[in-house]
Amino acid sequence: KSRPLTERVVLITGASSGIGRAAARAYAEAGAHVVLAARRLERLEDAAREAKSLGVRALAVRCDVTRGEDVERLMAQVRADFGGLDVLVNNAGQGLYGPLEAISEEQLRQVFELNVFALWRVTRAALPLLRGRRGAHVVNVSSVLGHRGLPLLGGYCASKAAVNAMTESLRTELAAEGIGVRLVSPGLTESEFRDHRLNAQGWAQDAIPLKAMSSEEVARAMVKASVRGRRDTILTLPGRVMVLA
Ligand code: NDP
Repeated sequence: KSRPLTERVVLITGASSGIGRAAARAYAEAGAHVVLAARRLERLEDAAREAKSLGVRALAVRCDVTRGEDVERLMAQVRADFGGLDVLVNNAGQGLYGPLEAISEEQLRQVFELNVFALWRVTRAALPLLRGRRGAHVVNVSSVLGHRGLPLLGGYCASKAAVNAMTESLRTELAAEGIGVRLVSPGLTESEFRDHRLNAQGWAQDAIPLKAMSSEEVARAMVKASVRGRRDTILTLPGRVMVLA
């Protein structure tokens, strides 16, 4: 099996479940050492054990990415243990469902706090570790909903549209340094994120007329986006869609 990221160091936020957890495995299978960050340490430790069983180094770090001091501590640990970083995967994110008229200001701020501000904060803190590493990449997880505003998802769509714009700006800002900045925009994906919607909000899962893809499919696309020289791609699967840029 090809291991295109052998000896690379990859930091994945939100690696305790869903797409991030699948990414931990996919990057380890690709030969990368993985640093796994989220708030639920036990789950991260499970994911780290699984990665180690694939023959790579793995570090689980409890980190709330909405807290500056947690993010600083995370980066200090990456520097101490690995000396640098080759790929940052900004995956931690949350949904927000409901008509724009009905959501609260606090809910809207919360989703922007995680999906936008934390992504910016983690990226900014990681850049000193990414600089000077050949083939360095930032991979931002957006959503197909970041490319269109859909009803009942306006707050979430707006947050992911902000991720798209930041990704484009950063790509241009870092081009001269050879740091690749990629966007992975999954369609509806099987994960806990989806469960939240079903359980907490009671929205029917077919409210969005897309067939769910698996977290593993999305994770494979992330790994592809992390390897130098890939052309920008739009990937369309039967009944569902994912955008890579
Ligand atoms: P999950 O809810 O399964 O995973 C979300 C992850 O984010 C968890 O690991 C969670 O870990 C972490 N997280 C949440 N808050 C924080 C925080 N404050 N600090 C650190 N980590 C945090 O959802 P998905 O796997 O589906 O979502 C991953 C990404 O994919 C998100 O950006 C989402 O918007 C995007 N996406 C999802 C789609 C889907 O249909 N599922 C479709 C398109 C995009 P913990 O709770 O342990 O902190």
